[in-house]
Amino acid sequence: MLKLNRLTKRFGGLVAVNEVSFEVRQGEIFAVIGPNGAGKSTLLNLISGLFAPDLGTLELLGKDLTQSPPEVRAWHGLGRAFQIVQPFAEMSVRENLLVGALFGKPGTPMAKAKAVVEEVLELTGLAPKADTPAHELTLLEDKRLELARALCTQPRLLLLDEVMAGLRPAEAMEAVELVKKIRASGVTVLFIEHLMPVVRALADRVVVMDYGQVIAEGTYAEVAANPRVREAYLGR
Ligand code: ADP
Ligand code: MG
Repeated sequence: MLKLNRLTKRFGGLVAVNEVSFEVRQGEIFAVIGPNGAGKSTLLNLISGLFAPDLGTLELLGKDLTQSPPEVRAWHGLGRAFQIVQPFAEMSVRENLLVGALFGKPGTPMAKAKAVVEEVLELTGLAPKADTPAHELTLLEDKRLELARALCTQPRLLLLDEVMAGLRPAEAMEAVELVKKIRASGVTVLFIEHLMPVVRALADRVVVMDYGQVIAEGTYAEVAANPRVREAYLGR
């Protein structure tokens, strides 16, 4: 689904992402973890195309998109959900999603966009809230709406940057169930998360970053038992 080869991003003298290589397989739920400042968000920005890499390449479904802007990547199936959710407050959930469907994937005909919105409302459990103004949603519903908005762009690969932030543990586990449903619907998921119970519950495979580099890769159990990973977390 996604192949990163030596992806690198410098900010002045700082190498925020340092020759990162890994592959995400189709249908996988893949986690990127690591201490604060490890380079996780920068890596996600390189994948979504917000930043251009100083070195390295990126392939999505076998297509080299290293030089492509975000909208081209979106067109090829890359979707992204954000930690800070900013819906149009006065618009209903359904209207917010329609905007996402029409503008997240430009060129989508209205009838198709409307059909996608109804599908996503069902999948995300937001159908009962479809006519509710966004500003009346709870935090957990906000998170559902943000995932739903990203799904309305019809992604093959969904990038999530700490979307569970601020949720209580029980709510985070509800969001975990939703991400599992999203995968079951055929979407591959790459997520950054600092809540370890979420990583343990969701990730098929985990990459651990520290100081811009990949220091471990494997199942949650494998990386959790890795001395280098333990050291990276204790050292901060
Ligand atoms: P993480 O998401 O793992 O906490 P980030 O990717 O946000 O880490 O940051 C990695 C490093 O790059 C940090 O040292 C951070 O200060 C630096 N950094 C991130 N974004 C910028 C930027 N736009 N300009 C300069 N330095 C940045
Ligand atoms: Mg970050």
